[in-house]
Amino acid sequence: MSKDISRYQRQYLFPKIGEERQRKISSSKVTLIGCGALGTVIANTLVRCGVENLTIVDRDFVELNNLQRQVLFNEEDVENNLPKAIAAKQKLEKINSQANIEAIVADANYSNIENLVKGRDLVLDGTDNFDVRYTINEACVKHNIPWIYGGCVGDQGLTMVVIPKKTPCLSCYFQSAPPPELTPTCDTAGILSPIVNIVSSLQSMEAIKILSGQIEQTTEGLYSYNVWEKRSQVFGTKQEIDPECPVCQKEKFEYLSGDKGMRTSTLCGRNAVQISRDDQLKIDFKIIAEKLEHIGKVTSNAFLLKCDFNESGKDYELTLFLDGRAIIKGTNDISRAKSIYSKYISV
Ligand SMILES: [Zn+2]
Repeated sequence: MSKDISRYQRQYLFPKIGEERQRKISSSKVTLIGCGALGTVIANTLVRCGVENLTIVDRDFVELNNLQRQVLFNEEDVENNLPKAIAAKQKLEKINSQANIEAIVADANYSNIENLVKGRDLVLDGTDNFDVRYTINEACVKHNIPWIYGGCVGDQGLTMVVIPKKTPCLSCYFQSAPPPELTPTCDTAGILSPIVNIVSSLQSMEAIKILSGQIEQTTEGLYSYNVWEKRSQVFGTKQEIDPECPVCQKEKFEYLSGDKGMRTSTLCGRNAVQISRDDQLKIDFKIIAEKLEHIGKVTSNAFLLKCDFNESGKDYELTLFLDGRAIIKGTNDISRAKSIYSKYISV
């Protein structure tokens, strides 16, 4: 049975959309990985404008300090300790009961990413770390699915459309993730909510072009915007694919195979999770200590750095080693530990 598209009339009135393209949007299948700041704005925009098959994947739950910018959540969700994917689904179904929203409370990683993206028309990045983004990039290149990168911190944002084999992929631009000491996160450097709205709106616009069958209309290059200074810049063009790119040109999928990225294990009986990395980092404790000083009590020596902090009423102890390995005490939950690592150490 065909669904009623009249609710989207103000959108398809716009000549570049029209009724036929609107139907295309409504029948398309989209996966959103990460439903925090960027993800909630993207989901809100897309479900209102006619994306009726949306899978939302998120590993986290709603916290009070999310409400500053994560538009689908409220204080009740914080009180009820709701996972973000579930809270988002509940709101979105009230906004658009025609939409079929699938909420998956899980950590997107090499073991599940291919199932999450296969058969979709588009994948959207609402995550907060490069590890997951490289994994999304490889899965989407492998299965020939367009995806839209987005990221922001402080007053700055970045976004880029990746159409496998036709435009540069994430690895064409960034051969490897920047080291943690050079990577501010929203939890260490803060974030202004207007930049979230701008980046996610740009991602949503490109999504609408792709889902309405106008992939050739997507904008090119890596777009950078500074909301405080109202300044934008575009790096690169659609044609500048790196001929040596290990992912889109040589199809070497190191994140998908599990050879690269974070590894985790719970430490039995210690209420702790260990996160190790294989990318031979050499951490600068001084810079990390400056990042963590306002979060908790930081101590360090030549071999390790410790930070005791409290988050949502729970005490944690994060121990970081020179090679990027960390032990997070205070939880047995791997998703929670990965989330803490991404928030405070990054990458
Ligand atoms: Zn590439």
